Amino acid sequence: MKRKFLLRICLSVVALSAVLSACQKNSNSTQVTPVVKSEVSAEVLQNIKDLGFSTSEVHKVNDGYLVEGDILLTEENFAEASTSPNLRIAETEQYRTTNLVKSLPRTITISVSNLPTVYATATANAVARYNALSLLIKFQIVSSSGNIQVVGFNQGPSGGYITLGSSGFPTKQGNPYKQIQMNTNAAAYGSNPDVNYITSVLQHEIGHCIGFRHTDYFDRSYSCGGAASNEGASNIGAILIPGTPSTADANSWMLACSNGTDRTFNTNDKIALNYLY
Ligand SMILES: [Zn+2]
Repeated sequence: MKRKFLLRICLSVVALSAVLSACQKNSNSTQVTPVVKSEVSAEVLQNIKDLGFSTSEVHKVNDGYLVEGDILLTEENFAEASTSPNLRIAETEQYRTTNLVKSLPRTITISVSNLPTVYATATANAVARYNALSLLIKFQIVSSSGNIQVVGFNQGPSGGYITLGSSGFPTKQGNPYKQIQMNTNAAAYGSNPDVNYITSVLQHEIGHCIGFRHTDYFDRSYSCGGAASNEGASNIGAILIPGTPSTADANSWMLACSNGTDRTFNTNDKIALNYLY
């Protein structure tokens, strides 16, 4: 089975033209980009650990620190205590519920700026998929200044990986994270991007914006392959969702890594979304 990072495509052992089909689970292509210690202070690493995120891959970016592949943590995040419980569904369904979107029912607007048409189409598709679930949270496309703004960036591969997109978590005040950044570099989605694939990546990033963690945050190797990578110690609790299977659930839309397909909500994902929203 081919596997690749949802938000990063492994490039270290394959040519660019063969990326999508050549990243094997058992290859050594899943090696992580090492933390550049000089970029990230010990205090910041402790803050990241305190919030319950892995410190094994931390990258300094303009707005803060990118952790677990595609999650942007800001100084504002560091100032907030993590006291709310996690939501646990089976062994591979676990979502962060700290700082959920509040004031439900609520419509969240999303705008797309300075991106090729395929990204706008994919955003509309992702919105339609969420709205089809009849949640208390609705999404609506607007022409500009949305509550969540989808913007582009262009960044080639670095350290053997390429970031496909990134986002963050809701604010303490209960607002969704304000921005999704999508990589327009041809190495990210190719010269002719598949709209359904981009749709599923946007679904995933919107999931972060409204408070979902990676389903396999406790061990990214579940979806990414490679060595086990846990987020580290966390003292926050867990809410078990009755009636969900106890077996592994391989197709969550919030898995850290993709199998390269258009991965939308599975049954447990819908249960979790309905539980929270
Ligand atoms: Zn993610």
